[in-house]
Amino acid sequence: MRVDLRSDTFTQPTPGMLAAMNSAVTGDDVFGEDPTVNALENKAASLFGMEAALYCPSGTMSNQIAIKAHTQPGDEVICDKTSHVYLYEGGGIAVNAGCQVKLLDGDYGRIKAAQVLEAINPDDVHKPVSRLVSLENTGNRGGGSCYELADIKAIREVCDKSNMSLHLDGARLFNALVATNEKPASYGAIFHSISICLNKGLGCPMGSILLGNKEFIKKARRIRKVFGGGLRQAGYMAATGIYALDNHVERLAEDHAHAKAVAAAIQKKSFCARLFPVSTNILIFETATPFTGAEVSKLFAGYDIHVIAMSPTQVRLVFHLDITPAMVDHILTSISKM
Ligand SMILES: *Cc1c(COP(=O)(O)O)cnc(C)c1O
Repeated sequence: MRVDLRSDTFTQPTPGMLAAMNSAVTGDDVFGEDPTVNALENKAASLFGMEAALYCPSGTMSNQIAIKAHTQPGDEVICDKTSHVYLYEGGGIAVNAGCQVKLLDGDYGRIKAAQVLEAINPDDVHKPVSRLVSLENTGNRGGGSCYELADIKAIREVCDKSNMSLHLDGARLFNALVATNEKPASYGAIFHSISICLNKGLGCPMGSILLGNKEFIKKARRIRKVFGGGLRQAGYMAATGIYALDNHVERLAEDHAHAKAVAAAIQKKSFCARLFPVSTNILIFETATPFTGAEVSKLFAGYDIHVIAMSPTQVRLVFHLDITPAMVDHILTSISKM
């Protein structure tokens, strides 16, 4: 039995999702005439209580559009040192927005208002203008960590006092919402912009949604065109997003339960030195010497279980909708034999 835990991007569309694609009514979205794209954008905006939304080909593109829309070249973006926007978007903050970053040392990817306050540059010609704070929830490198809403509110207060915008890389925000039992609108009320991945645990083949106010989304739509992300009959893909929002959100709790069950088994093994706290669908652990991340991932591969060595001493497993209870049994049995 092959089990792919390398990422929650390895899902295949379900029969229901394929049927939704097949029956989608589409038009040219660059002309604003794709009813299914419009329906997805309206659905997402109203879910989060935000004014508008923009369907984008990828989460990277929606983050990059947001960063460019919030900033001017030469500005500074404040984020955690393990942020996806900094580590995994090809230097896009510099290339697309012409901005530099100030990195903070967060707790499993989560930064605090006091750290943000300390990081803001004074009004001094030597210094770049601190213009944007970007948070990540859940935190990928933080092992799927979730923010406390109160901590985010405190960061928003700091942003308001300093004329800064607050963006959320919510690639896995729905995992956080399910794990913490919070409502999308609570997030919509705090952030100036939110990007959400449909192509991760929600199980779509592609796509992301960027949320903000009308003026911001109008600007974002223009930037999306500049980036080459204006799509035509995108409704065939947007239909998967509508389907996922209707059918694949609550089931994320199963992925979280699977991650916790496997974490409990891994914790007992001699190759595991330390597990990151598991609160959602990502499980990261530090390997114990003499084991390297690569060696431990080979050990798993011996049972046809595929994981990623995130660093020389870290291994990551990600649970998603294509991981069945039978696969979890196979993982647990295999771990007991390792
Ligand atoms: C996957 C991911 C993204 C964007 O990914 P795409 O593959 O471009 O859709 C952004 N942020 C985080 C935290 C992610 O995990």
